[in-house]
Amino acid sequence: MRLSAATYYADFVVFPAGAVALVTAGAWTMPTADLPFMALALLAGIALWPLAEYVLHRWAFHRLPPMKGMHEAHHRQGRALIGTPWWISLPLVAVVVLLPAYFAVGFGYAAGFTAGLMLGYASYMIVHHGVHHWSIESGTFADRLRRRHALHHRSDGGGRFKPGNYGVVTGFWDRVFGTDLGLAPARAQPRGPASSPPSEPGKG
Ligand SMILES: [Zn+2]
Ligand SMILES: [Zn+2]
Repeated sequence: MRLSAATYYADFVVFPAGAVALVTAGAWTMPTADLPFMALALLAGIALWPLAEYVLHRWAFHRLPPMKGMHEAHHRQGRALIGTPWWISLPLVAVVVLLPAYFAVGFGYAAGFTAGLMLGYASYMIVHHGVHHWSIESGTFADRLRRRHALHHRSDGGGRFKPGNYGVVTGFWDRVFGTDLGLAPARAQPRGPASSPPSEPGKG
């Protein structure tokens, strides 16, 4: 959905702050000797994020209503402030990740693992915002991320282009699943200014 600037940018604070709060609360409940294992749970969450991002983007954002409609709006207007407000995404994380993990492994490890995924989500939000909104020097690593995502935006052009490049923070899982499209030409931008109507497929 289209968000106010305050709600859109709140994600950049709410998720990292929530992750820090979870780690602190989790560590508080753990014996000191178990803290290294909690740190491993945190790292596992961070490491798992790119796969979660790939699965969510490919099969939820591109196929599952109502996320599909929202994501299509983002594909039409790449620079518009469209997303899931934190007051929906944060409770979703609590119900879908934290709660089952809590019942499986207890609060401390669940908190670490969930915090890792939340930091991954925050990195996705920042990278995705950056490739659409920031002016990025060509030839840099960030430029490669921008050009990868530009091809993803082009790939939704009504079957004219092969779909792919679902990974935003890394192309690793695209290579594993055979959806890697490589990089767009140097000056290609992920589609669309905030206020523009949908443009022709293939221009972005
Ligand atoms: Zn997409
Ligand atoms: Zn995008």
